[in-house]
Amino acid sequence: MSCRFCGNTNTEVTEVEFKDGSKHLKEFCNPCSKWIGWVPQNKDPREFVMPIGKHNGKTLQKILEDDFDYLLWASENLPLNIRKKICNILNFPPPT
Ligand SMILES: [Zn+2]
Repeated sequence: MSCRFCGNTNTEVTEVEFKDGSKHLKEFCNPCSKWIGWVPQNKDPREFVMPIGKHNGKTLQKILEDDFDYLLWASENLPLNIRKKICNILNFPPPT
């Protein structure tokens, strides 16, 4: 990500621990030291935890190993945001 203040791409990410113990990645601009934003975590769709269905609570990686047929079915039948992640993992074209 580039800095919205100076346009520089020389940024630095530091880990910040919140009071509740969760960890977040904060991105700073090095040259102007402005705060750029939070870096989204769990970017790897394989780490996404299925929120619904019979594999509720499992990561997509785990479902990929356990029940490939379900993942194929899910890639056509679940809500779009989930289908996008599944299609990404399976190297399918992104769903619309
Ligand atoms: Zn900057």
